[in-house]
Amino acid sequence: MNYKSIFKMGTFLFASCLIVSGCHNKQKEETPSKELASGIVLDNLDTTVSPKDDFYQFACGGWVKNHPLPAEYSRYGSFDQLGESTEKQLNKLITDIAQQSNDAGSIAQKIGDFYNCGMDTQTINEQGDQPIRPVLQKIADVKSNKELTDLLIELHSEGYYPFFDIFGEASPNNSALTIAWLSQNGLGLGERDYYLSPDPKIKAGYLEMMEKTFELSNYGEMTNNVGKEKALANKVWNLETALAKIFIDKNELRDPVKTNNVLAIDDAAKLMTVVDLKKYMEQMVPNKVEEVNVVLSSYFTALNKLLATQDINTIKAYLAWNVINEAAPYLSDDFVDANFGFYGKVLSGKEENRERWKRVINTVSSLLGEPVGQLYVEKYFPSEAKERMLTLVDNLKIALGERIANLDWMSPATKDKAKEKLDAMIVKIGYPEKWRDYSGLQIQSDSYYANIVRATRFEIQYQLSKIGKPVDPTEWLMSPQTVNAYYNPTTNEICFPAAILQPPFFDMNADDAVNYGAIGVVIGHEMTHGFDDQGRQYDKMGNVNDWWTEEDSKKFTERTQVLVDHFNKIEVLPGTFANGRFTLGENIADNGGLNTSFVALQHAKTQGTVQENMDGFTANQRFFIAYAGVWANNIRDEEIARRTMTDPHSLGKWRVNGTLPHIDGFIEAFDIQPGDKMYLAPEQRARIW
Ligand SMILES: [Zn+2]
Repeated sequence: MNYKSIFKMGTFLFASCLIVSGCHNKQKEETPSKELASGIVLDNLDTTVSPKDDFYQFACGGWVKNHPLPAEYSRYGSFDQLGESTEKQLNKLITDIAQQSNDAGSIAQKIGDFYNCGMDTQTINEQGDQPIRPVLQKIADVKSNKELTDLLIELHSEGYYPFFDIFGEASPNNSALTIAWLSQNGLGLGERDYYLSPDPKIKAGYLEMMEKTFELSNYGEMTNNVGKEKALANKVWNLETALAKIFIDKNELRDPVKTNNVLAIDDAAKLMTVVDLKKYMEQMVPNKVEEVNVVLSSYFTALNKLLATQDINTIKAYLAWNVINEAAPYLSDDFVDANFGFYGKVLSGKEENRERWKRVINTVSSLLGEPVGQLYVEKYFPSEAKERMLTLVDNLKIALGERIANLDWMSPATKDKAKEKLDAMIVKIGYPEKWRDYSGLQIQSDSYYANIVRATRFEIQYQLSKIGKPVDPTEWLMSPQTVNAYYNPTTNEICFPAAILQPPFFDMNADDAVNYGAIGVVIGHEMTHGFDDQGRQYDKMGNVNDWWTEEDSKKFTERTQVLVDHFNKIEVLPGTFANGRFTLGENIADNGGLNTSFVALQHAKTQGTVQENMDGFTANQRFFIAYAGVWANNIRDEEIARRTMTDPHSLGKWRVNGTLPHIDGFIEAFDIQPGDKMYLAPEQRARIW
C-alpha cells in the first residue's frame, strides 16, 4: 500500500521505523524539584577520544557501545529509541481501545477492529492470498492493451501505483490551488540505480523472492502459469529494468523549475495513447481536472512507447507483481516471511522481522493517522511543551533574521525578500487545530488486509478530492505521533509534530543549551529548508518564482558547491562515497540550522536561561554534544549502502563529522586547531545562511 504522501519535501528525517528512550528518564528522576539538569548523559560520551579528532565518536561513542543493534533494525539510533517509546505509548492507547466494546461506527470501533484483525494471525493465515484474489483475477482477465486504462484506474484507486502515481498538491504556479500531479512510479526496488547497475546479490535476492511470492499467490493458476513463476519473475525484472531506464534521475526531480510542467488536461492526454488520461482523471478525481503537473513529460512519452511495444502478458505479470508485493507484508506468514527475507534481510541487513504488534500498531497509526493522533496528544502531549516551543521558534526566527541581515555576500534586495519570506513562515506545533472527519471510513472485523484496502481507498479519495479546490492552510502533512518534522515549500510552513517534542530532541527538564543544540537545530534546519537549493526557488507565497538577483543566485550556488564537494569526498563504505548533490538540501539545512540555533543560544545566555558550566562542559560545548547525540546510531553495512542510494539525508555519523567542521562556533567551542582531524580552514568552510 502506498502510505507516502509524496511531496513532503525537506523532512528532517527520512521516513523510518523508530525505537525507546531510557537514558533521559533517568536524568529526570535524579533531578529534584524544578532545577534544570544539564541534559547531557555522560555515559553516552566516549572521552577516550578527542573531540578535535572524531567528534561523533567523542559525543556518541558511549551510546553506540551501550546500544548494540537489535536484530530487527538495520539502523538503530537515539531517535529510533524515541520512536520506540512513542510506539509503546500508542500500543497502550490502541490495545486499551481494542479490549473495550465500542459503538459501531465510532472511532474507537475503527481503531479497535483494525488492530484486532491485524493481531488475528489465525484468520490471516487461513485466508492466505484470498484478500488479493479478486484484484489478481481482474488482471488475469485482461486480454489486451485496450483494457489498461480501466485496470489502472482500479489499481490506483486501491493504492497500487504501477507505472505512475497521482496525487493532489499545490500548483507550482499558484500555491493557493490544489491541482493533479502525475509522477513516475512502480519499481519494486524503489530506486532506478538498482536496475541500471545491479548488485548481483540484490538482483538474485529480488528474483528469488518474486518467484517464491508468485508461487504463494494464485496468479499462476489464473493465467496458466503454474510452474512458470521463475519466467514470470524474469519478465517483471525485464520490464522494471526498461522502466528504470526511462525514469527521471532523482537529482533532476529535486529541481522545482524542471519539475514545474503544468499542462492543460488536453495537452497532458496527448502524451499517452495507450492510457486514456482524460478518462483516467474523470474517474479518479471527483472534481473536474483542468490542468495537471506532469513530472515529467519525457517520462510519460517514453512510458507510452514502452507500453505500446510490451507483450500484454508481461504487463499483466508486472501489474500482478505490484499488487502481490505491496500486499505481502500484511498477508499470511508465508508471504510476510518471503517479503522480509528480501526487503528486510538482503536489502537492509536486518536479522529478524519486527514483532507483529509493532507492525500492526504502525499500520493502524499510519492509516488512521489523525484519529490515533488525537488520542495520543490528549494523553501524552503537555500544553507547556507547546508554549516553550513557540518561544524557541520565535528566538530562532530572530536569530535567522539577524544572520540574513549580516550576510556579507548577499545584496540588500535579495536580503529583503529573504527576510519577508522568513517573516511569512507559518509555524505548526504539536497537532492540527482541527481534526479530519473519518466518519465515511468503514472498518470491519472480517479481514486485516480488507481494512487496509478500505482505509487506503478512503485516504486516496480524500487526497484526490482536494484537486481543483483551494489549499487548506491548516492541514498537516504528518500525524502528531510522528517523530519527525517538515518544511513545506508550497505553504512556506514549518511543522513539529508532538512526538518529536521529547528527549533527546526536547527536554522540558534540561538547561537551554541542550535544547538549542537539539530541537533548536531542528527548528533552524526546517527554517533553512525554505532557503536551501530547492526552497529558495519558492517565494513567500509558495510559488516557484525567482526572487534572487542573478549575482546572488550565482554566489549561492558557488557557496553550496563547497558542501557538495565536501560530502562527495566522504567514503561511507570502502569504495562507496556519499552523494553530495543528492544530499545538498539537507546538508544546507543542517549547516544553517546549526549556525542559526547557535546564535539563538548566545541570545539566551544574555537572558540568563543558560548556565555556563555544567557537567564539565561549557554551554557552547553542551550545544554541540546535544546536536551530535541526536544522531548517535548503529547501522548495518547493507543499510549504509541502501540509504546512500535512496536517502536525501546524510548518514547520522556524517551529519556530525561532515557538517560540524564548517561551523565556526564548533571550531571555537572545542578549540580545534590546524592539524586536528575535525579542522577545516576558515576559507574552506561552507558559509551560506
Ligand atoms: Zn531536512
